[in-house]
Amino acid sequence: MTDPRHVRLLIIGSGPAGYTAAVYAARAMLSPLLVQGIEPGGQLTTTTEVENWPGQVSIQGPDLMVLMEEHARAMGTEIVSDIITALDLSQRPFRATGDSGTVYTADAVILATGARAKWLGLDSEQSLRGFGVSACATCDGFFYRGEEIVVVGGGNTAVEEALFLTNFATKVTLVHRRDSLRAEKILQERLLKHPKIEVLWDHTVEEVLAAGDPAGVRGVRVRNVKTGAESEIPARGVFIAIGHAPASELVAGQLPLREGGYVSVEPGSTRTAIPGVFAAGDLTDDHYRQAVTSAGMGCMAALDAEKFLSALE
Ligand code: FAD
Ligand code: NAP
Repeated sequence: MTDPRHVRLLIIGSGPAGYTAAVYAARAMLSPLLVQGIEPGGQLTTTTEVENWPGQVSIQGPDLMVLMEEHARAMGTEIVSDIITALDLSQRPFRATGDSGTVYTADAVILATGARAKWLGLDSEQSLRGFGVSACATCDGFFYRGEEIVVVGGGNTAVEEALFLTNFATKVTLVHRRDSLRAEKILQERLLKHPKIEVLWDHTVEEVLAAGDPAGVRGVRVRNVKTGAESEIPARGVFIAIGHAPASELVAGQLPLREGGYVSVEPGSTRTAIPGVFAAGDLTDDHYRQAVTSAGMGCMAALDAEKFLSALE
């Protein structure tokens, strides 16, 4: 076994929070090492246009994340392709084990592991994942050219995915459990006037219906939450867009978590309950959950870490 790799500051996660923390930490001469995880660039790599990143009227999500990575690297961050599988915060230096077998030790850690897609929890949804059921329209939309598609959810993600999927589908049905959307008004407007999109209000998906041959999806069985009436909607692709859950499993049992699994931080800071451990971005934020707010928290985490490390010395 090789010796642990020691760094002053370890950043876990390569979304807007992680890369922004890396830019600030590198400029503070902390020689940060950033571990990218299974999704280099984070959630924005699963979307198309981003229209609310200041300074860019419109930019593709994956392009924005490549720019952030280049920026972090140019400032002097070491970026490593690895996944942290275990993290021991019980003593300093903190100890992180990578899937590669590398063990990283660090005087301070910034947790920026973000969030992952939530699922409805239906057996049929799980058994058909990858065979017609997806949580990423930009990744899988292309497979449903000329087909009908169902999108589930009523937030920004669901509306954006429904709009994006009209590039491929003959018809998109958005199934939402209530009679109003929580998506931004500008997105709602685009959705409601789109000729290829129909919204099925007050309905839940009860089952994803499997096609026989070839294996795949033939539709969904839905239920009207007001009347209880059930019906079927034909579709070859079903996109679940019902939100994200924080990726806090590395620190569960070590740090206090708020309802929903979000890492608690001291109000107005990124300090967690353990000195030297900081948290930023969607991992700790159940409210704003935006690229720009995550980046802002990444900046705060680097400044908090810098203060902690200079006090140590
Ligand atoms: P994430 O982007 O979730 O990144 C988390 C990172 O942590 C990933 O790199 C992952 O690989 C890494 N990681 C996780 N676990 C580990 C581990 N064990 N070891 C190492 N690394 C790990 N926001 C906007 O402001 N504008 C938009 O237009 C917009 N569009 C969106 C579209 C979609 C489809 C989605 C899903 C979200 C969108 N958002 C948008 C929200 C935005 O993407 C998030 O708020 C933002 O990405 C959160 O940044 P983050 O750095 O906290 O985490
Ligand atoms: P979200 O805002 O939490 O919305 C989730 C949606 O799914 C809600 O409409 C919710 O219904 C529905 N839902 C949740 N659980 C469900 C279930 N079990 N069955 C059926 N429906 C269910 O999540 P999101 O849309 O993924 O957005 C996450 C964050 O990313 C938000 O902060 C959002 O602003 C941000 N984001 C921003 C952009 C952008 O700025 N353009 C784009 C995408 C995402 P209810 O409404 O009834 O609760």
